[in-house]
Amino acid sequence: MSSTVRSVLALGSNLGASSDTLVRAVADLVESDHVRLHAVSPVVRTRPVGGPDQPDYLNMVIEVETDLGPYELLAHCQAVEERHHRTRTVRWGPRTLDVDIITFGTWVSDDRNLTVPHPRAATRAFVLQPWAWMDAGARLGGRPVAELAAEAEDLAGLTPYEGA
Ligand code: ATP
Ligand code: MG
Ligand code: MG
Repeated sequence: MSSTVRSVLALGSNLGASSDTLVRAVADLVESDHVRLHAVSPVVRTRPVGGPDQPDYLNMVIEVETDLGPYELLAHCQAVEERHHRTRTVRWGPRTLDVDIITFGTWVSDDRNLTVPHPRAATRAFVLQPWAWMDAGARLGGRPVAELAAEAEDLAGLTPYEGA
C-alpha cells in the first residue's frame, strides 16, 4: 500500500450467531489487499438504542489502515454487510451485521451517503466505550473518546461480552 489512512470502523450485530458474525466480518474486512488491521476492541453487549423492540447487540470497533478512498471503503464495508445477508427493512431495526465508518483519517464529509465523522458516534457508548478500550488516547471532535463514552446515555446498558 502506498499512501494510507487510518480509519475506525464500528461493527454491530443482533441477529443470528452475532459473535461468529463479528469475527468473520473482521476477517472479511481485512482480507482485502487494501485494508490492514491495526487494532481491535473488546466485544461488548449492548441494549438497543432507538428503533423497535429487538434483541441485545454485540458491538466492537476496529482500526484499519487503508489505501482505499472513503467511498471505496464504504463500498467494501457494504459488500461485507451483504456477505452476511444484511437486509434493510426497519430503520435502526435488527440486523445480522452493520459496519459503519466512524472516522477516516482527518477527512470530514457531510454527504448523507457518507457522513464522517459518523454523526451519531459521539453520543453512542456502544461505539465510544470499545473504542476507548482499544485506544486510550483516541479523540473525536477534539474530545477524548473515553470522556464522551462516560457521558453517553446508553453506557448503563453496556457490558463486556465474555462469550455465550
Ligand atoms: P446509523 O447511521 O444511525 O448507525 P445504520 O447504520 O443502521 O444507522 P444503515 O442502514 O447501515 O444505517 O446505513 C444507511 C446509509 O447510511 C447507508 O446507505 C450509507 O450510505 C449511509 N452512511 C452515511 N454515513 C455513513 C457512515 N459514516 N458509515 C456508514 N454508512 C453511512
Ligand atoms: Mg449504524
Ligand atoms: Mg450502517
